[in-house]
Amino acid sequence: MISIKSKTEIEYMKKSGEVVAIALEKLKEMIKPGITTLELDKIAEEIIRKSGAIPSFKGYEGLPGAERFPGSICTSINNEIVHGIPGLRMLKDGDIISIDIGACLNGYHADAARTFPVGNITEKAKRLIEVTRQSFYEGIKCAVKGNRIIDISGAIQDYVESNGFSVIREYVGHGIGKQMHESPQIPNYRTRERGPRLEPGMTLAVEPMVNEGDYHVKLLDNKWTVVTRDGSLSAHYENTIAVTEGEPIILTKLN
Ligand code: MG
Repeated sequence: MISIKSKTEIEYMKKSGEVVAIALEKLKEMIKPGITTLELDKIAEEIIRKSGAIPSFKGYEGLPGAERFPGSICTSINNEIVHGIPGLRMLKDGDIISIDIGACLNGYHADAARTFPVGNITEKAKRLIEVTRQSFYEGIKCAVKGNRIIDISGAIQDYVESNGFSVIREYVGHGIGKQMHESPQIPNYRTRERGPRLEPGMTLAVEPMVNEGDYHVKLLDNKWTVVTRDGSLSAHYENTIAVTEGEPIILTKLN
């Protein structure tokens, strides 16, 4: 069951989206060699709470046997794809770090992610980050009324693969609203399911996760952090969008 949001609900989601965007902007400034991921987590949590919102990821229930997610944000470095846990690891020159932030304000969630360079990074890492970002935009060109989810998925997959990278299979984008994860799922590759038809009022977290090497993943013993099986770099780019009568609107941005 896919929830269709009213104009008022989408306005609420813009507000939570703005909180996420502000936190990402601040972290972008703070990311440099020597800072720990726990420090970044504290900065983001403070911004989210000061704006009256709640960090959506904190305490999120994971797989059986995993602790509840301890951070307010996910911090995934280099070969870590998603769900990295903030801690005492210090960023080094040449790292790339993916930051995923969710915030809930007035009962509505918004979710966005970016991969940032730490100091000076290789040309290949820069290209990975840029291709991942652009694949999101290629995907949402297809997020229009009457298309299906597979149109978004296919556009992302084609763009990423034509640039020599791969999209991961096990983790996908999702509907979002009163719940952090709602229907439908939004794979970043073509599956056998075409997925539902897009309708105005659907709010979706579209989030390509792109590997430099092949798409296989491995879950670390903490049962959260997902890494590339071949040890290659991975990047992430995500925004919460609303499908409209015309072009989709990005909700996780500064207004
Ligand atoms: Mg998400």
